[in-house]
Amino acid sequence: MAERITGHTELIGLMAYPIRHSSSPAMQNEAFAKLGYDYAYLAFEVGADEIEDAVKAIRTLKMRGSNVSMPNKTLVGQYLDELSPAAELCGAVNTIVNDNGHLTGHITDGIGFMQALKDNNIDVIGKKMTIVGAGGAATAIEIQAALDGVAEIVIFNRKDEFWERAVSTVEKINTRTSSHAVLYDLAELDKLKEEMNDSYLFVNATGVGMKPLEGQSVVPDKSYFRPELIVVDVPYSPLETKMRSMAKEVGCKTMNGLGMMLFQGSAAFELWTGEPMPIEHMKEVLN
Ligand code: NAD
Repeated sequence: MAERITGHTELIGLMAYPIRHSSSPAMQNEAFAKLGYDYAYLAFEVGADEIEDAVKAIRTLKMRGSNVSMPNKTLVGQYLDELSPAAELCGAVNTIVNDNGHLTGHITDGIGFMQALKDNNIDVIGKKMTIVGAGGAATAIEIQAALDGVAEIVIFNRKDEFWERAVSTVEKINTRTSSHAVLYDLAELDKLKEEMNDSYLFVNATGVGMKPLEGQSVVPDKSYFRPELIVVDVPYSPLETKMRSMAKEVGCKTMNGLGMMLFQGSAAFELWTGEPMPIEHMKEVLN
């Protein structure tokens, strides 16, 4: 530590509450150390009432930037100087970059998802994807997919407190990108089967499959899958979910949420340093 941290070391934060469980500090500090970059990444317990002051601290302490997680993702944008197009469309920020006092908010979750697809040789650009979800992860994926050129995005969600957000996401995609989006109630199971049937990619971007909804699936049974469909889960704990094991039985190529997690961190790393994370090294360390 005495060799690593000096008077020149620049600080990058992670501001959220709760946050002590996060794997981001280990991931980012490992990447800085591997490339010999003089940054230190620390987690700070910052709640909704404190995020405005925490942004002032980024300016005062001349921090290079910060990650932001719940409950601050949708709150922090108002205190920044600029938002990336994706952050503006999502209404959420997970990465702040401080360029000599000018703070820009980005959202790298969707970038991470799209990069994880590429890393797995999955090319959805110009094609159709069906996705379940309307929360933070789903919205970031849907917006980034539209910005990157996925031709058709079919969204399913329950009629719960996230429904209105899905309505707004569809409206933004259709008016502000060249992609086309539609929304259906997840209870319309015949429609789900029909839309999955001619999709290139199917994504579960809800918490279903992850604790406390472990052992559950948004897709009722394996008759919904065909071998050519690529099936992606955003949850990553546990790594194997009921939905993906059904898809695998049918012969589908599948991907779990670990790649998205790694590449959203890599995208943030690149925004701060100008260089991508040493991905192959990080994969070895994370496994
Ligand atoms: P959120 O609370 O913002 O959204 C929850 C979503 O799940 C909503 O669409 C909601 O309608 C849906 N949902 C909840 N219970 C449901 C049920 N019983 N049946 C059907 N739908 C249901 O959550 P989020 O932050 O968007 O996270 C969603 C999942 O994505 C979580 O498992 C989270 O851990 C994971 N995630 C992964 C990454 C990654 O990098 N891989 C990043 C962010 C989130």
